[in-house]
Amino acid sequence: MLKATETVLEINLTPLGNNYRYLKSKLQHNIKFLAVVKAYAYGSDSVEIAKELVKLGADYLAVAYVKEGVTLRDAGIKAPIIVLHPQSVNFKTLIDRCLEPSLYSPKIFKEFIEIAKENKQSKYPVHLKFNTGLNRLGFLEKDVDFISYKLKETTSIVVKSIFSHLVASEDEFEKDFSNSQIKAFKNISKKLFKTLDYQPILHMCNTSGILNFPEAHFDMVRSGIGLYGFSNIQKEQKHFTPIAILKSVISQIHTIEKGETVGYNRAFKSDGCLKSATIPIGHADGISRAYGNGKGWVTINGEKTPIIGNVCMDMIMVNITNIDCQEGDEVIIFGEVENAEKHAEKINSISYELITAISQRVKRVVYRK
Ligand SMILES: *Cc1c(COP(=O)(O)O)cnc(C)c1O
Repeated sequence: MLKATETVLEINLTPLGNNYRYLKSKLQHNIKFLAVVKAYAYGSDSVEIAKELVKLGADYLAVAYVKEGVTLRDAGIKAPIIVLHPQSVNFKTLIDRCLEPSLYSPKIFKEFIEIAKENKQSKYPVHLKFNTGLNRLGFLEKDVDFISYKLKETTSIVVKSIFSHLVASEDEFEKDFSNSQIKAFKNISKKLFKTLDYQPILHMCNTSGILNFPEAHFDMVRSGIGLYGFSNIQKEQKHFTPIAILKSVISQIHTIEKGETVGYNRAFKSDGCLKSATIPIGHADGISRAYGNGKGWVTINGEKTPIIGNVCMDMIMVNITNIDCQEGDEVIIFGEVENAEKHAEKINSISYELITAISQRVKRVVYRK
């Protein structure tokens, strides 16, 4: 590990490879792997991570928005990229940069065909998303006839894949619901296949789906969180290693007398003599105010210690009364042991939210160890 001299998010490519290989080991050999690198590769570094995943053998990449896909293309990434949630205002750019849209409603489907035609495209690859219960994005089964009709009418697009998304793939108490989604997806794809003279790729599973529903891997799986080191499933977690470690340093140490307070609004009142350390990371860096007042903690020289008072925009203060440490010493916010999931749980959140919140102000260092 490197030694931090300022706030830094260290991103290790070695566990990324291990997480990828573990997920691959769960798949039959002919199943394709789509690596989800939206939201700066879950708050890490989209370009470095995407390049590494392509090297590791990922067949597809996915981002949420066109802008994210453009960043990958600007960095010279040539792999196929699905844009999961494009808006029609960006379709021209999407086509110019060879990004592949997920189309999820009759309206956006029609709009894309129009723009593909205007741009003289032939057989432009698109992906059709079906809603089987999440009620977020997606066509319904009853849209299949309309889709088939439109597809017969045009040569501008070709359906590369058909997919859906599980609502609660990590939740064993929702297994029946997941199974009903899988069944609905099979019905929809069967119906659509009948009207096509080619077979698009089918995919449904996210990370926890890969682990819990081997019977629903279809032709491809889509993984995000697992690649970054979180399984969402307790008994699986030992096979995954978080790729990012968030570190900082002690800027200043204070001695606080009994009755004095620490931080804004005097939220922490000292009931005895104590030592506090000020650390240069705050809510503008992605450490939510919800972690203030003892909910969150950091690790200094191997010792855990709570955040005291409110989280400021650029700083937090922690109690170091019983820790042997000095100004300039390294501080771990989250890493392999005190990982993002453990922190997030304390404020009723999830690893996804904490890791993707780490703002672009925090320096990223990508290494391999
Ligand atoms: C973000 C996303 C994924 C990745 O899910 P993980 O739980 O991170 O593996 C897969 N599919 C879709 C449609 C997504 O939006």
